[in-house]
Amino acid sequence: MRKKIVAGNWKCNTTVKEGVELAKSVNELVLTSGAKDVVVVLGAPFTHLTSIVEAVDADRIDVSSQNCAAEPKGAFTGEVSASMVKSTGATYVILGHSERREYYHETSVTLNKKLTQVLEQGLTPIYCCGEALAIREAGTQNEYVKQQLDETIFLLPSEQLLKLVIAYEPIWAIGTGVTASTQQAQDMLSFIRGLIANKYNKEVAEEISILYGGSCSPSNAKDLFSQPDIDGGLIGGASLKAPDFLAIINAY
Ligand code: PEP
Repeated sequence: MRKKIVAGNWKCNTTVKEGVELAKSVNELVLTSGAKDVVVVLGAPFTHLTSIVEAVDADRIDVSSQNCAAEPKGAFTGEVSASMVKSTGATYVILGHSERREYYHETSVTLNKKLTQVLEQGLTPIYCCGEALAIREAGTQNEYVKQQLDETIFLLPSEQLLKLVIAYEPIWAIGTGVTASTQQAQDMLSFIRGLIANKYNKEVAEEISILYGGSCSPSNAKDLFSQPDIDGGLIGGASLKAPDFLAIINAY
């Protein structure tokens, strides 16, 4: 059975102290009142990972980085490798977020290297895909997302694909307050699951958790999560407020 997952993406926000406080608040709220069958992941900056892993209940909260290096180690000043992420106790790595693709020029070639590193370390990639507004307006979002996946995760054998979580995040909905409609989100996630069924098989497609991300909030999470192909959310802004994040977790 695929998992229900609510993952926060804190982006470049909070000091270590603020991040630990936020993590502790989420931890406490989730332990006392969080939906028990939802996997909760906190995607924090690299600098925070060790402290946050120490601050939360490892049985209940998973910790994620938001990126990692494409190379295992060496002369790559400023980079943080997947093995370094693993050494903090984090268990997930967000890869291919549209902000990294856009501002740091991450390509499918780079992302394939990063996927290899993350999978070799036994970490779980949360692999992001999604189209820009112009592509949605042209009606070619399915072709665009298919190509993003064909060039990267669909090159993996099924045993490795099964280790991934996929997050569909339309760029026009990220941080804009404009959420994809429940139907738009369901249609794309169903399309992605169909691609997996065709390329691999139906069992593999049914096992993989696919998340929606883009202005997900306490007010729209219930509708989104009620859809048959939406297995949870990747949450940006609303993950920075513990009560809002809890409300999204409890939208299941
Ligand atoms: C994100 O950046 O992954 C995201 C979904 O952001 P927001 O929820 O703020 O739109």
